[in-house]
Amino acid sequence: MNRIKLLSEQVANQIAAGEVIERPASVVKELVENSLDAGARKISVEIQAGGRSLVRVADDGTGMSRDDALLCLERHATSKIRRAEDLAAIATMGFRGEALPSIASVSKFTLITRERDDDSPEGTQITVAGGTIGEVKAAGAAPGTSVEVRQLFFNLPARRKFLRTEETEAAHIQHYLTLAALAYPEVAFTFQKDGRPVWQLPAVKSEPALSSRIAALRERLRALLGDEKLLAVNFAASLEEDFAAEQAEVFETAEKSPPEPRHSTIRVWGLIGAPGVSRATRESQFVFVNRRPVENRGVNYALIEGCHTTLMKGRFPVCCLFLELDPAAVDVNVHPAKREVKFHREFEVRKFVAQAIREALLAFHAQPEAKPEPQSQLPVEQQLAMDKSLESGPKIATPPLPEFPLPVKVLERPAPVAAQPSLATGFSRPAPFTPPVHAHPLPSPPQPSPTAFATPLLNVPLRLVGVIGKLYVVLESDRGIVLLDQHAAHERILFEQMLNRLEQNEFAPTQKLLLPETIELSPRDANFLREQLAPLTRLGVGLSEFGERTFLLDALPAFVKATDTRRFVLDLVDELKAAGREVNLARLGEHTVAKTVCRHAVKANDPLAGPELENLIADLRRCTMPYTCPHGRPTLIEMNYRELEKKFGRTQ
Ligand code: ADP
Ligand code: MG
Repeated sequence: MNRIKLLSEQVANQIAAGEVIERPASVVKELVENSLDAGARKISVEIQAGGRSLVRVADDGTGMSRDDALLCLERHATSKIRRAEDLAAIATMGFRGEALPSIASVSKFTLITRERDDDSPEGTQITVAGGTIGEVKAAGAAPGTSVEVRQLFFNLPARRKFLRTEETEAAHIQHYLTLAALAYPEVAFTFQKDGRPVWQLPAVKSEPALSSRIAALRERLRALLGDEKLLAVNFAASLEEDFAAEQAEVFETAEKSPPEPRHSTIRVWGLIGAPGVSRATRESQFVFVNRRPVENRGVNYALIEGCHTTLMKGRFPVCCLFLELDPAAVDVNVHPAKREVKFHREFEVRKFVAQAIREALLAFHAQPEAKPEPQSQLPVEQQLAMDKSLESGPKIATPPLPEFPLPVKVLERPAPVAAQPSLATGFSRPAPFTPPVHAHPLPSPPQPSPTAFATPLLNVPLRLVGVIGKLYVVLESDRGIVLLDQHAAHERILFEQMLNRLEQNEFAPTQKLLLPETIELSPRDANFLREQLAPLTRLGVGLSEFGERTFLLDALPAFVKATDTRRFVLDLVDELKAAGREVNLARLGEHTVAKTVCRHAVKANDPLAGPELENLIADLRRCTMPYTCPHGRPTLIEMNYRELEKKFGRTQ
């Protein structure tokens, strides 16, 4: 008896829907991708009940003829590829030709479409219920396409049960729309949820030049997520050789002649949070490959690698990055919903992403000093008034304060003592601030200036005000108040100095202990420490084996002022062990050892005072990544005048 039968079209569609249409957000994704592929300049999305009862996506794209409208509901009907070879160079979002029939097979579906380049004012309307085509008729419509999907999974109760709450489903939809809106700033998006508008994103003008695209992205990102300190990433490298080799291999096995060697470029561009800007989740991390939002573990690692010491453990960068590479160098057909991609040269891609980010972060500090005042949020008169009032401030003011980065004069009193009076004057600045809103209305509308953070903090003059809590150095810039964490700053400086020495194969200056100490450890700890002896010695911690689980400590780095040297080493071992758990290695890298040693060195140190503070800031300015400690905590935080005014209720 023959038992094998071909599935009906309808069942086949429902099975495909099982893979492609997971939830309402997948419907939104497929429909919006179709609109983008159709060259839409405006896309409106409307949902009800988290998309369970309604998803409607309308666009002003090319639209479809009546024949195409009927055909697009057939499985494997697509206008985007013709031959299997086209799969190697996909430039559109869709290509599988299964989204529309899949959606129509699990919902009550209406398509209204009218060709944009056709003179007839009439369009086509097709209704489908659970995969069965109902009515096909002519209908008046605006040029473009509108797809309405009601009662998703109405004929698949089991799938419907798997849907989460309306809020969760709506959040998934909003997340996808965020991605689409970021990838296409030049397209206007509106999003309506249960009759209420959520977004109205105007199209952002963008020229092909990358600087213009980055500016457009910045504007779109601000409209979606608000203001953030973001740095531009703009990096290009060549993938050519390896890639060409791979191509040649493929063609050899297919017994065709290898193609001409191709020049394949990878470009990584977009925006990344300035040092110290991070999140507890990956929620604000947006990565696109050839404009397609993707998940790729390699890229995720690369992001963290690239941020290196500017990112705290367990934190994630804020970024919106676009990877552009030859479509033939990436496979987008590895996931039915195309969420994942595979790079042919995964390792190189990862390396370049990390490098792109590293360079953007380094460039931030290296950029030349800005002109005197482009960032100030205050009108010029007010600024002048403020400067005057500072000069003729109350008599308790400290002697003229040194200015960084100008050559620094020695402070006459230890900072902690000076702190009190100068703080008092700092907070009682009289006249200039009194009527700012009325007398000097801020430039309206009070939109955040894109250059507000353009000049890195350490490149503007900083005036030392004092020290509070024996730890935080209070500074003043022309933009507002700056607090510096003395320990974090010191740690960063030590860390970079150590790395420089390691790089140049120099040993750190050490101080011999008058009385060498023996330190006994548990057998496990002893084994662990034995593995780290070489880097520790190079960093100036003079430890040697003195028995099976005993070590002799006879020197410490010169900058360590530990009173209890034994304790210092024991704590160091604990920290190194903790760090080891993180990186999961028996032999820790020199970076990790250096990070840990300098953290301890700083902990063991007295709070700084007077001239040391000035040197600290000068040294920090010389660092390559001065804005965070080696563990990614910020060294400086800034509150600009605008934020202060907001806190004091002077502006909204
Ligand atoms: P795919 O996008 O993979 O080609 P779909 O099932 O999503 O498959 O769409 C099938 C075809 O219908 C597309 O190739 C396109 O030609 C046409 N189409 C779908 N949506 C639109 C739209 N919004 N505007 C114009 N044409 C569309
Ligand atoms: Mg599609």
